[in-house]
Amino acid sequence: MTDAVIPLLDLRKVGRVPAVPAALPSSVTPAGPRLDARGRPLRDLRISVTDRCNFRCNYCMPKEVFDKHYQFLPHRDLLSFEEITRLAAIFAGLGVQKLRLTGGEPLLRRNIESLIAQLAVLRTPEGDPLDLTLTTNGSLLARKAQALKDAGLQRITVSLDAMDDAIFRRMNDVDFPVADVLHGIETALAVGLAPVKVNMVVKRGTNDDQILPMARHFRGTGVTLRFIEYMDVGTSNGWRMDEVLPSSDVLARLRDAMDLVPLAPSAQGETATRWGYADGSGEIGLISSVTQAFCGDCNRARLSTEGQLYTCLFASEGHDLRGLLRGQGEWPARSDEEISAALGALWGRRADRYSELRASLPASEAGGARRVEMHYIGG
Ligand code: SAM
Ligand code: SF4
Ligand code: SF4
Repeated sequence: MTDAVIPLLDLRKVGRVPAVPAALPSSVTPAGPRLDARGRPLRDLRISVTDRCNFRCNYCMPKEVFDKHYQFLPHRDLLSFEEITRLAAIFAGLGVQKLRLTGGEPLLRRNIESLIAQLAVLRTPEGDPLDLTLTTNGSLLARKAQALKDAGLQRITVSLDAMDDAIFRRMNDVDFPVADVLHGIETALAVGLAPVKVNMVVKRGTNDDQILPMARHFRGTGVTLRFIEYMDVGTSNGWRMDEVLPSSDVLARLRDAMDLVPLAPSAQGETATRWGYADGSGEIGLISSVTQAFCGDCNRARLSTEGQLYTCLFASEGHDLRGLLRGQGEWPARSDEEISAALGALWGRRADRYSELRASLPASEAGGARRVEMHYIGG
């Protein structure tokens, strides 16, 4: 007899295989950029390389759910580095210019440097390298930064929610100290992973008193600090609207203490609103995923650890690209051209805009619906 909890429905298994067109053009032309049903291009692919993590941030993988009984994916279910690289190359043909490795904690995936080296040689149809980056909790960064840089990683984002050690240890829920993450950030800067960005998820009543200490710490260091609204992603974190501190409040608190001037967006589809210190000592970003929907130019797709494609962070259903790569049931493995055609058609049908609709959804759906977890598809 075991006390393991068996979920009624494992969301990781409910994907669909994207339809492969019956006939492909006889001569295969470069796939070319695709627009979705709302005219949004596909530019940014986030790739989750593991569903495991050594932290238990309560807003992402709360300990009560992700305990010793939780069944993470077996290794055979993960996309191999070769499969990830093959898909990334196909996505580049469809207009993707930016790849972000994430997870779970991506630095836990063994030999991640080898995947980075394979991705670093990919090119867009115009011959440009892809913008290659990674989001990490920083716990293994001091040890790995040089190898990541040598493999071809260009820049990095580190998550850090507090300067206060007790608050940070409580939030990561594995008693991990701030000092070690800061050491990782300094090592990343020293080896030239630039620019380094730091993401802080702000939870009202938990770490909102850390907004100013975080800003003061990173001002003048070359690190861009970004404040992220606590999101209703997944279904495990018990999200409540009253724990969201709107970015406008974050900005008001910062402007009370510091001189900030608005900066222009750095790129189309940029999720952060940028503000600069008036004396030129750096910038901060505000990511208002809850209070100011940015679905209008959302150009991101997410590839899960086992090869399910999600066209929205809040999707409840993925599309099984691993089935196309490996073959599934009576279906054979597909060629690059067939996969590209299937992905192009799938992106063409995309109409997701969950954040825009959130306010008008019934309470049972806003914050309560069955949705895929962040650690599985990555942030
Ligand atoms: N483990 C790595 C890390 O923490 O950076 C990468 C994966 S993590 C899922 C990616 C990003 O998502 C992190 O910056 C994390 O803070 C953010 N995140 C996770 N859950 C979130 C939530 N409920 N709301 C807002 N951001 C969240
Ligand atoms: Fe792990 Fe990142 Fe999720 Fe925290 S936010 S539990 S570090 S995957
Ligand atoms: Fe993009 Fe979905 Fe987020 Fe809107 S809710 S910005 S469509 S991921």
